[in-house]
Amino acid sequence: MKYIFVTGGVVSSLGKGLAAAALGTLLELRGLRVVFQKFDPYLNVDPGTMSPFQHGEVYVLNDGAETDLDLGHYERFTNCVLSRHNNLTSGQVYESVINKERRGDYLGKTVQVIPHVTDEIKNRIREISDESKYDVVITEVGGTTGDIEGLPFLEAIRQFILEVGTHNVVNIHVTLVPYIRAARELKTKPTQQSIAKLREIGLQPQVLICRSERPLDDELREKLSMFCNVSPRAVIEAADVKHTVYEVPLMLHDEGLDGLICDQLGLKTPEPELANWRKFVESVVNPKKRIRIAVVGKYIDLQDAYKSIYESLTHAAASQDCGIDLKLIDAESLQEGIDGQLRDVAGVLIPGGFGDRGVEGKIKAAKFARENKVPYLGLCLGMQVATIEFARNVCGLDKANSTEFDKDAGDPVISLLEEQREVQNKGASMRLGTWPTKIEKGTLAEKIYGSGEVLERHRHRYEFNMDYRERMHDKGFTISGTSPDGSLAELIELRDHPYFLACQYHPEFQSKPNKPHPLFKGFIQAALAHKT
Ligand code: GLN
Repeated sequence: MKYIFVTGGVVSSLGKGLAAAALGTLLELRGLRVVFQKFDPYLNVDPGTMSPFQHGEVYVLNDGAETDLDLGHYERFTNCVLSRHNNLTSGQVYESVINKERRGDYLGKTVQVIPHVTDEIKNRIREISDESKYDVVITEVGGTTGDIEGLPFLEAIRQFILEVGTHNVVNIHVTLVPYIRAARELKTKPTQQSIAKLREIGLQPQVLICRSERPLDDELREKLSMFCNVSPRAVIEAADVKHTVYEVPLMLHDEGLDGLICDQLGLKTPEPELANWRKFVESVVNPKKRIRIAVVGKYIDLQDAYKSIYESLTHAAASQDCGIDLKLIDAESLQEGIDGQLRDVAGVLIPGGFGDRGVEGKIKAAKFARENKVPYLGLCLGMQVATIEFARNVCGLDKANSTEFDKDAGDPVISLLEEQREVQNKGASMRLGTWPTKIEKGTLAEKIYGSGEVLERHRHRYEFNMDYRERMHDKGFTISGTSPDGSLAELIELRDHPYFLACQYHPEFQSKPNKPHPLFKGFIQAALAHKT
């Protein structure tokens, strides 16, 4: 088994996760079987309880693990399917160590960061090192080198390398090479100091991925090579991408990253087969047509809050040789009235969310899409607001609401299941992960999916209240997908509308380049057919 560790230095937000994912793409296209792991040094057990302001999107895996959004990059950029074993936080490490201590597993010893915490971390790397499944494990360490929280992870990696042998490991350090305008120069000092920090704890990177606004010339590459103790070939330039993150694998390949890593690990592989990837990038960069899609949400100013949704739109649009102009609309700005904000869009997408802020604005947007026959895709909360809207404005149930927003709603069309009513803890207590949905025959959903049963990922507490099913059905609201026993509504559509689909689950977690999710693809096709 071969191991690649990816650390980051100087500042955060350098795109370490993307670099790791893009390297995974290249290795996979060389025929290697790749798996990823992310270490997050914070003390939360998982990011499920964190606000999007703190953390961006929470990415949900098949097994229901609520994880860091980098796992989304990993799954989108490769064929790997991850589980809760692939994201380890300090919170999980300490939880496990303390549980063992309480059980008496340490037999009276003093429990310490070294070796007990570091052993726990090393075990997690070993756990996924299954040679029958993978050739390479790529482990990304969250945070920035020098952070106190990150130290146990780096120490564990140092020990691990000693155990498996340096010939089986490559350490990559993603760093910033800033351009100082006054001096008209790129500066290597922050990188040198970041590497010095790593060396202090016994880690020597073999590869530098240098994020920089300007190209690195030979002299600078030599300087970085010499001071950071890596070969000149291992100084990899990573400029900002021009158009799309999907260019990253191509850029890193042009810099020779994948060939270098394979040489360093002694892996004999052919050059990567990049034709399909290039074709996909080409259709993202140079589409023949463009459409405008509105996303009406609560966190539209945060780039990362709806990451998987924006990526899914990109995948679907590329498959139709189409580019997307996103119109991001703050749901709260629609509370008083839509005021023409949706007049020029070819489709309306309402993402998931929690809490009542902006909900009335989303309900207005759903009404606009229904009445004006604008294609609509509702995801999770986006389905719940569409349901409330239809109940209020078509079925005449003025008091319709979700009990999330009004505990005593006169008509609780969205409400808690009995089993959720008792739940007190906030962490990992929702309906999570992949569940089957049975698709109703003769519906638009059946046409779109081309299948009678689908598997989709969930993250919600509230459900459609089946007491309202008949009444709403009579007026044109069809439940086109349910749980296999028929008790839970998973997918709804409006009969008198070209494309009004909304699901209780999150299809955005299963879309990839060259493999767009059917609901997104159908949405883009409908948007293209819709004249604005
Ligand atoms: N707040 C809603 C629920 O808990 C929707 C959740 C979501 O959109 N992910 O059911």
